[in-house]
Amino acid sequence: MRLDALAVIAVGALAVILLWWWRSKSDPRQARLPPELRSAGLVYAERLFQSAGPVSISARVDRVYRNAAGVLVLVELKTRETNRTYQSDVIELSAQRVALMTHTGDVVADYAYIVTERPDGFRMGCHQVRLISHADVIFLAIRRGELFAGKVEPQSTCSSCLCRKCAFVRPCDPSSR
Ligand code: SF4
Repeated sequence: MRLDALAVIAVGALAVILLWWWRSKSDPRQARLPPELRSAGLVYAERLFQSAGPVSISARVDRVYRNAAGVLVLVELKTRETNRTYQSDVIELSAQRVALMTHTGDVVADYAYIVTERPDGFRMGCHQVRLISHADVIFLAIRRGELFAGKVEPQSTCSSCLCRKCAFVRPCDPSSR
């Protein structure tokens, strides 16, 4: 067999291997979860939990897995154009943790995973985030209630990037604060 024919076969074989590798990496069933949870059992999916107490927290979890240490770990899938997380994601997951922990009495990890995916389904990343404490979630819930009741004055965010995309920018007028 001629040398150039062998080269064509080698390039073809390499292309097939690369295609197989790319497909296996982008298979959402295999690639979405962090390594810690790839063999973990799914415990809850799309389920609402509510904490008892003077300040009740209700939150719907996306996915909850039990890791090898027996601890529940929250996972949230976010469909967005950018491969990043926001502080609002952290607050949302922290509220889920409080609701889940107090409703079930189970130990829930103080970190969670956010899987980011583009609207076309392409998986972009998996981010581990540190959650805020139970006390801080209660503080935010109380402040939210007071804001809605008009008992406290809202403050503008220190991030002007948030204001640029905010639907309330006109009534809020952050430049006047
Ligand atoms: S426009 Fe007002 S409500 Fe919106 S992010 Fe900025 S400060 Fe917050």
